Amino acid sequence: MQVRRIQNGFLLRLMKGEEVISSLSSFVEAQKLSGGFVFGLGAFKDATLGYFDSAKKEYVKNFFEEDLEFGSLTGSISYSEGKPFIHAHVVAAGPDAKAFFGHLFSATISATGEFFIIPSDSKIERKLDPETGLNLLDL
Ligand code: ZN
Repeated sequence: MQVRRIQNGFLLRLMKGEEVISSLSSFVEAQKLSGGFVFGLGAFKDATLGYFDSAKKEYVKNFFEEDLEFGSLTGSISYSEGKPFIHAHVVAAGPDAKAFFGHLFSATISATGEFFIIPSDSKIERKLDPETGLNLLDL
């Protein structure tokens, strides 16, 4: 991972082989960020994307082994049970340019990943919401 501090946050480059969610979580923990937002683009493989079935209160997971270009990775950075929680959604496509979308559980950078992180000025936490069964933002 390469990091550069910029005016409103951080620019991160994730390297080939680095897992997106765990790398971002480690960065947040190391920098002691209170929370914030993350935006990204690049190329990944071995991606697990999810769709939340609200009736069953569980995720349907789809696995994509192939290399995909991703864009519009948009996420919030918060804390759940004291640990950094990266909640990211992403759009990704292969050579036919047909896009997949989902909640990003994990993906491994296959070429490069470019991320922009905007830290928040106060702690952002999540709390279990009994109605949905999800840990939702508690603002
Ligand atoms: Zn989600």
